[in-house]
Amino acid sequence: MGSACPNIELLAAYLENNVSQKTREQMEAHLVECRICRRVIAQAIKSESAVPAPVLPRKTSR
Ligand SMILES: [Zn+2]
Repeated sequence: MGSACPNIELLAAYLENNVSQKTREQMEAHLVECRICRRVIAQAIKSESAVPAPVLPRKTSR
């Protein structure tokens, strides 16, 4: 217990600074000891234009 990885949506929110400070601290604490998530984030930053966009209809500016 205690080492569950945050899901991709949470990681994305973290990258966009869309998380609360508490969540941010928790995630940073997790990232310190989880290289899997660090890798995910590193890849997300590298391929920022190719961020896996799930089915979330975020930009509905019609
Ligand atoms: Zn992790």
